[in-house]
Amino acid sequence: MELKSRTESEELLKMRSLNTRMELTQEEKFHYFNLEKGYEGEVKFDRMAENLREERYIINDLLLKINNSYFQIDTTLISQEVIRLLDVKNFEGDFCLEKDRFYAVKTGREYKNPITQLSKCASQFRQLLHDFKLHYLVEASVIFINPEFTLYNAQVDHPIILPNQVNRFLKSINSTSSKLNDGHKKLAKQLISLHQTKNPYSQVPIYQYEQMKREMYCKFCRSFLVSLQNHIFVCGKCGGHETVEEAILRNVREFQLLFPERKITTTNIYEWCNVDLSKRTFCRVLKKNFIAVGKTSDSYYK
Ligand SMILES: [Zn+2]
Repeated sequence: MELKSRTESEELLKMRSLNTRMELTQEEKFHYFNLEKGYEGEVKFDRMAENLREERYIINDLLLKINNSYFQIDTTLISQEVIRLLDVKNFEGDFCLEKDRFYAVKTGREYKNPITQLSKCASQFRQLLHDFKLHYLVEASVIFINPEFTLYNAQVDHPIILPNQVNRFLKSINSTSSKLNDGHKKLAKQLISLHQTKNPYSQVPIYQYEQMKREMYCKFCRSFLVSLQNHIFVCGKCGGHETVEEAILRNVREFQLLFPERKITTTNIYEWCNVDLSKRTFCRVLKKNFIAVGKTSDSYYK
């Protein structure tokens, strides 16, 4: 049973938006690409985990804090006898582990060693259980989900699940029966309540309103080649359709995400979307979907 679902992080949503609306540096693009890729891998694993049977709790994307240090767990799987902490990685290509180094063979680019990260995370989690005076068995694994991933120098005792082992890993979990009790439930609730919503590690570059390309873009392929046809936005690149209302609301959400300090007013959103629609249309959509605060020309929406 899934107790906490997975959604794109605020960092990913912001980076996705910035990548569309401004020029990112190579390094920023690389970071953005990794976020997208990582999320894609996690979602892929979630789909596979949907086949888990018996009574188990699945808690996705936990960010916990202990002694002022944060740790993140992609998937926490609570079964009767064991709590599994799963870190899902979507690396693609040939990688090598050499002592503490973890790097891509082709480019030599070094990444944070997922095994080291995982063991730190597991020990912090055990500390947390200890503080709760709970004694559950904790097992942690890094799951490499991408079928195009190879790892050189992997040792048999490394806590890793390689792409061709993921199915068997899930099958072996399924082969053990699991009944949950109130203790498990209480723990799950506690973990969710401890989840931190602000990620201190998020790396979003500094951006200004003036830097942003302010125009309507396609929801599907993010091209700016959209045109209005019978009150529907049609993409000239991928052919995707979106109604005017949906498109405006999507832009309002993006505006709020990027500029939480700015008010949602008809004029602000009109300028943000910068598209061939009258202010009256914007006003109508905002009125329908938000609550107006104040009257006359300086009213804004919540
Ligand atoms: Zn498109």
